[in-house]
Amino acid sequence: MKALVWEAPRVLNLREQEIPKPADGHVLIRVAYAGICGSELSGYLGHNALRVPPLVMGHEFSGTIVELGADVRAQFPNLYSGQAVTVNPLTFDGTCEFCRAGLSQLCIARKLIGAHCAGAFAEYVSVPANLVLPLPPGMSLRTGALTEPVACGVRIGELAGEIENQVAFIVGAGPIGLVALQALQLKKLRCVFVSDLDAERLNMAQALGGIPLHAREVNVVERVRAETNGYGAAVSADCVGTAQTRLQCVQATRSAGTFILVGLHEETSALPAAEMIRREIVTRGSFSYTRENFFEALRRLENEQVHLDPWIVEAPLEQGGAWFERLLNAPGNVSKVLLVP
Ligand SMILES: [Zn+2]
Repeated sequence: MKALVWEAPRVLNLREQEIPKPADGHVLIRVAYAGICGSELSGYLGHNALRVPPLVMGHEFSGTIVELGADVRAQFPNLYSGQAVTVNPLTFDGTCEFCRAGLSQLCIARKLIGAHCAGAFAEYVSVPANLVLPLPPGMSLRTGALTEPVACGVRIGELAGEIENQVAFIVGAGPIGLVALQALQLKKLRCVFVSDLDAERLNMAQALGGIPLHAREVNVVERVRAETNGYGAAVSADCVGTAQTRLQCVQATRSAGTFILVGLHEETSALPAAEMIRREIVTRGSFSYTRENFFEALRRLENEQVHLDPWIVEAPLEQGGAWFERLLNAPGNVSKVLLVP
């Protein structure tokens, strides 16, 4: 089979590989669409300790089951060959204290398909059957491939709490910023500000109903405060993850409001701790999604409560390397690149 192998920083090559044999409890999936994630862009540059070359990345995907490993038929009678599915790419043991609390994304045995093991930038991928979700009737494989990033937005919305009629502030109009925007809009907010440095990305946020703030042209903190009688946003979500964007979020959040850290661009950065203390800013990390968030993402896609069209780009797997470079250099008005093996 063809596989896109990350072999060194900024080096992705299409290689011929053996089609994997599904182990016990695994299913083999013929990949239909596999999205490129922002975390994989930093992985591609070699900035991510989680990912070690040579590696087949790809954890946002859909496809068709082609083979069931031993024991799958007995344990998962709902799965069958030929079925259209998507996959929760975070493995979990189901028994640790976090799993039992419904926080499978924090499982002590957590692994990520496409980081700890081969992912979906290939014609076939073998995955544990308990992570496989059949697509609802009528849902296209193209839409199904968006479940993973949409689930990240569901989690952000869940952590935002009760904020009806209030103002929210999102930094970053990339894929996660756009799904966060749509998740927060379901909470009946007065408005959601979205800041970015890229005018084309801001146009996508605006088309989805966000209020765009060009961070080079306006003081985003002052704008958010001005629109809230000086108080600031009830919730802010940093979907970038630099020292500057994290600081902007703190400054734009009202006292006792919630600051959600999502973007992982920089591992560490300075934060104004004294201000966060004196204004009682509630600070939360948001990492991926719970199992329930993943199911909810599939429901929202089915109900057309969230979308990334018309800015999705489909590209053949062999153009993957070129798209990684383009997304790093000048992403433009692309909400998601789906590689098609
Ligand atoms: Zn666990």
